[in-house]
Parts: sequence; structure tokens; C-alpha cells
Amino acid sequence: MKKIYILSILILSSLSCTDNAKASEIDNKTDFSKKNAFEYVKKQTDMGSRYYGSDAHKNVKIFLKETINSFGYNSLSHNFDAPYIKDRKGENIYAFLKGKSDKYIVISTHFDSRSIAEKDPNPFDRNDPISGANDGASSTAVVLELMRVLKQYENELPYSVAFVFFDLEDDGGLFNIDGESFTQTDWIQGSIAFANDNIIPSDQIYFGILLDMVGSFDPEFKYESYAYTKNGYIYNYVWSTAKKLGYSNEFINKQYGVIVDDHTPFLELNIPFIDIIDMNYSYHHTQADTIDKISEDSLYKVGSLVEYIIKNTDDIKNY
Ligand SMILES: [Zn+2]
Repeated sequence: MKKIYILSILILSSLSCTDNAKASEIDNKTDFSKKNAFEYVKKQTDMGSRYYGSDAHKNVKIFLKETINSFGYNSLSHNFDAPYIKDRKGENIYAFLKGKSDKYIVISTHFDSRSIAEKDPNPFDRNDPISGANDGASSTAVVLELMRVLKQYENELPYSVAFVFFDLEDDGGLFNIDGESFTQTDWIQGSIAFANDNIIPSDQIYFGILLDMVGSFDPEFKYESYAYTKNGYIYNYVWSTAKKLGYSNEFINKQYGVIVDDHTPFLELNIPFIDIIDMNYSYHHTQADTIDKISEDSLYKVGSLVEYIIKNTDDIKNY
């Protein structure tokens, strides 16, 4: 994911967040297991760095498919040529859960990890791949645990759900691609291909949520400004729900500025999407992004929030 500072958007956008009566019908019952989620993080980091071309990158795809199928889903693959990285082929992995509506809420993450650690304080460690415990593994673990707990509600959920694990997100900045738009980039190859190939028809997507770096001990989730400008109502809905669940310390009514991430290609196609991302993570793209930086409680807060959203979402346009 790539951070871009665009002050005009920061200044022009309002920071209002409205509460709505509908979210007051909180059912705090949750099936999300923090232990399971943490175990899914560890399973990934134990494989080693899941960067493109590594054995761990192959193994994490096998792990995802086997785990998804073990929950009773049909794991699907979207094979693609990386749009902006020559000779790289990727594989997005996804699955569907049927709800009462044919429209989908998309819940997504990237599963690859970065092949270098350019922000590491030690210059000699900057060319080695990262463990990616928070950057890649944490959000992937939360999506897996969500899939496990939501399967029992098949056909009962208000909306259908598409779970998407994007490949080739995190090797940006290495290939000298600097296009004119946010999606002419060497980041986010999997989501560019997935959105452009219309794997889930765009008119069937109600909205999407991307999770990225959701497991640190002191996360600060703020609005991604491009998504907030286009789809502020989704952020208002999700953040007001977080407040009602008692997660206001983590979900903060402020903006980060523009961040190019796997939700961006959907925004470019006018598909409503937000990014739940913690840019406050000190170990981003360093060798210290390791399993000891992962908090079960943070995984739980994000997971239970998204679980609640999927179980209870009605009409959110008025937020
Ligand atoms: Zn990253």
C-alpha cells in the first residue's frame, strides 16, 4: 500500500460522523474467535515471507484454499497477468456466501507479503523480505475467521458476501511504474486485475471493505481520504457501529490522506469501497513486522465489527 499526501482532499472533506438509530439494535453476540484468528496469523508467518516467487507464497495459497474449503465454501481462483509488472502472474482467491439479497458485501485482504524491508532501521536488512505478520497475515487471518463464523448464517444474512484474498499487492515501488492515475502502479496488481476483469459484476456489489494491517497492539484506524470523499457514508456507518461496540479508541474520526490500496481500483470504477487500515504501525515494511507485534484483542475488535456489519447491515445510504 502506498501513501500519498493530498492536502486539498484533507481540507475539503468534512469529518462529520452521524449516528443512526438502526445501529442501536446492537447484538453483541459474536462468534469470532481471537484465538483462531491469531493461530491463522501464526500459520502464515511460520511459512516464512510470502513474497512473490517464494515457497511460502505457493504454500499460503494452498493453505488458503484448503482452509476455505474446510469451512464448506467452494474456493475459486482468478488467475491474471500482473497489469504493470512484466512477466508476473498472480492468483486471487475468493469465495461466496449466499445471503437474502443477491447483492454482495465484499470483504477483502491481501495475502502476499513484501519482498524487501526498505523502512528497516538497519540498512543491511533492507533487501530482505519481511515476515508480514501485520502487513498481510493479520487481515488475511481475520477474513478467514470471519468465513468460519459466518458460514452457519448462510441464506440468513441480509446480503450475500464475497470474500476476496488479493495476490501481488505489496511489491510496489520496485519496478519504476509511475502512471498518471492511482491504478497505473506496481502496487495492488491483484485488485486492479480483479476489478477490471469484473469478476464480481460491479452492479452486484453493494459495498466493499478492505482490511490491511489490523493486528497491532495500538491500532489507529482512520479514514482513507479518497474513499471518504467518494463514499463517506460507509465510513460513517462502520465507524458509528464501532463506537457502539466500544471501539472508539481504535476507530478514530479523522482522515489519513490518500492511500493507494486494494480498494482503489474499485473506487476508480465507482464501486463503493472503504479501507480499514492502520498507518500508525511502527514496524511497517521492516524486519520487525513479526508475530510478537500481533494482538489477539485487535484482531477480535476488527473481526467482530465486520461480523456485526455483515449480520446487521440494512440501508446505509443515510449515514
Ligand atoms: Zn505493505
